[in-house]
Amino acid sequence: MSIEENIQDFRQRLQGTNCQLIAVSKTHPVELIQEAYDAGQRAFGENKAQEMMLKQPQLPADVEWHMIGHLQTNKVKYIAPFVHLIQSVDSLRLAQEIDKQGQKHSRVINCLLQFYIADEETKFGLDLEEARQLLRSDAFRQMQNMRICGVMGVATNTQDEVHLQKEFSRLRHIFEALKQEFFSEAPYFKEISMGMSSDYGLAIAEGSTMIRVGSAIFGYRNYQQQ
Ligand SMILES: *Cc1c(COP(=O)(O)O)cnc(C)c1O
Repeated sequence: MSIEENIQDFRQRLQGTNCQLIAVSKTHPVELIQEAYDAGQRAFGENKAQEMMLKQPQLPADVEWHMIGHLQTNKVKYIAPFVHLIQSVDSLRLAQEIDKQGQKHSRVINCLLQFYIADEETKFGLDLEEARQLLRSDAFRQMQNMRICGVMGVATNTQDEVHLQKEFSRLRHIFEALKQEFFSEAPYFKEISMGMSSDYGLAIAEGSTMIRVGSAIFGYRNYQQQ
């Protein structure tokens, strides 16, 4: 199937749900992103700040850029002027830098807190207690140029559906706990970003509001070409 057909397919699948498609375009050239754009897709995910920064001016201004990869504090400045949502906030230090850059560009940068839900050593993210500490801190409460809109997680790379379902369910419970404790008066705290090409169906069933889909739209990534 073509990129256009894949986009249309996802649009149909998500119709009537509370879930949005983020097309993960990392490693793919701007020509392919433009194809997806022409099929109506506006939200794209990248995992490297420099790659996003290079692609952004080559595509229409109404593209919504989502940072989904681990973000180093010294790279926030590359994407701060235009990024739509930073999904991978995993420390107070990173939140502070985003706030600082937001201030510099006179904007509020929307973010998600990334949680560690997989049982793989390599995955980034907070646990619930660390998130509570971050959200209770004076430093966080003083931030006016970054805003937490929800949570994000990457599940274990496994075919085991029961296992995946448990991880997605855990992230939803984390979302609900934080909503009740810190964001009950904040309508913008509403996003649960979970689900990728291989497991988005389960994620939607567990309440995902954003699926991040790469290979099921653009085909397999060839990292060597970079
Ligand atoms: C690459 C990536 C995805 C998309 O993965 P696919 O399996 O290609 O759909 C989703 N989320 C994150 C954080 C990623 O790095």
